[in-house]
Amino acid sequence: MARYIGPVCRLCRAEGKKLFLKGDRCRSDKCPINKKRLPPGKAPKTRIGKKSEYALQLREKQALKRAYGLMERQFRNTFEKALGLPGKTGDNLIILLERRLDNVVYRMHFAVSRAQARQLVNHGHIAVNGKRVNIASYLVRPGDTISVIGAARKMDAVRAALEEVQKSGVMPWIEVNADEMTGRYVMNPQRQDVTDLADVKEQMIVELYSK
Ligand code: SF4
Repeated sequence: MARYIGPVCRLCRAEGKKLFLKGDRCRSDKCPINKKRLPPGKAPKTRIGKKSEYALQLREKQALKRAYGLMERQFRNTFEKALGLPGKTGDNLIILLERRLDNVVYRMHFAVSRAQARQLVNHGHIAVNGKRVNIASYLVRPGDTISVIGAARKMDAVRAALEEVQKSGVMPWIEVNADEMTGRYVMNPQRQDVTDLADVKEQMIVELYSK
């Protein structure tokens, strides 16, 4: 499947917000968003006009899609699924994205970024409830146990990523046992708990796709 392989900071700069595509490294002072760098391709002193409603909605969609590393078709399919669920479509969309196995692996700090987490899943290094699952889009359910299995248990990258559990903890809907390299997806998150994407306006995405 086609995937963006260019410099990821460029994607954040295009959206004008942090998408945390380099995982924990994004918290450092070197993040270009902290330095208020201009969007890619914008020369200094270029006047940026008022954006249309459509342009704003499009940017919100691109930001969320890029944060989770999805291509348009996958993202649209997730939206259609969210539309069919009871409750607010925007909230449902975020919850479905959070339930993706690659995202849960990232949230459990088995990997430093969602891209690295996806690689772990694709290469068969992750088990759900003791069974190997190599589908990144697999939807984790409340109560599921996720484990690092096989050769990945000895990988320096996984061990280094797990150090973050001690440093910054885990999201409130997740439990992790770093020594055992396992975690439990306790419950679905509330929208307000997904704090690193607090400034994404999912309602604008709902409006965009409802046209
Ligand atoms: Fe780069 Fe991370 Fe900052 Fe985005 S948030 S610009 S990926 S360092």
